[in-house]
Amino acid sequence: MFGAVVVGIGRVGLVRIRDMLAPLPGSSAENITVKGFISRRSLDTQQGVPQISVEEAVNREDIQVAFICTENVSHEDSIRAFLHAGKHVCVEYPMAMSYKAAVELWDLAQEKGVILHEEHIELLTEEYKELKRAVEGKTLQEGTLHFTGEVLKTGFGFPAFSGIARLTWLVELFGKLSATAATLEEDSGNGYSKLTAKLLTSDNRLLTWIEERGPGCPRAKNINFQFDSCSLTKIPPAPAGAVGLFMQDLIHFSAKLSQQVSPEELQREKLRILHCLELAERIQLLCQH
Ligand code: NAD
Repeated sequence: MFGAVVVGIGRVGLVRIRDMLAPLPGSSAENITVKGFISRRSLDTQQGVPQISVEEAVNREDIQVAFICTENVSHEDSIRAFLHAGKHVCVEYPMAMSYKAAVELWDLAQEKGVILHEEHIELLTEEYKELKRAVEGKTLQEGTLHFTGEVLKTGFGFPAFSGIARLTWLVELFGKLSATAATLEEDSGNGYSKLTAKLLTSDNRLLTWIEERGPGCPRAKNINFQFDSCSLTKIPPAPAGAVGLFMQDLIHFSAKLSQQVSPEELQREKLRILHCLELAERIQLLCQH
């Protein structure tokens, strides 16, 4: 059994506690027990789980795992503290706000001999799985992924990082990408922002990624993928799966803790995560120049 602490009691932190208290029966998630949570606020017990301090969490021998569920900008420091203490870490995406920091964190995890896992629930959705099936075997000519959503609170970072889930979709669907141009339109008065990034596949096919947020913007993903044989202009509809997305991620993470995931799979995930963070950083740089 692995004892766990949840850092950050927002939407995701509360879901993490809920899932650990009622893991999917018969799954590897049953191997994790939540022992406490950490918050900057002084809170009552949450779902029966007590608040503890960071010092207590890093020093307790019955806590071997930390779930980092805070805003993006504070992920790096939290991960570093728990890795230093020899704890396994599951962090909500993105793990860091720079490629260099992410490489350092992976190196530290390796040195300590612990698992560093970045959650990517967007790859576990039924709509993504349908889209992946629809794209498989087709040759892309050109494509666009346009995301719209509400304004984010502060602390989620540059849109290429806060929107890393969309970038990850594109990389998983079309392979390694390079960023050639990017612009950011902003109206900081009302929180509106629109990132437009031009990406090239390894055979020089253009993908345009638009990440647009503003007050009242509906949460939506619009696609237009042109293939040599057909075009795809809607994400194929798919009913939600029987197992919740964060539960699926918990099962995947606990399978890693129990050494049920092959080294090849771990390496493939790590390379994809680092590639996406490197791309996000390049997009940020292109916007600044
Ligand atoms: P949220 O704003 O609801 O929660 C963040 C919480 O962390 C807040 O309660 C905040 O007070 C707390 N916090 C911040 N710094 C802290 C610190 N140093 N110590 C303790 N607590 C601290 O945000 P959220 O929607 O729960 O998102 C959390 C993370 O999950 C983000 O990294 C986000 O990218 C990722 N994520 C969110 C979703 C989603 O659907 N909400 C999906 C996938 C990934």
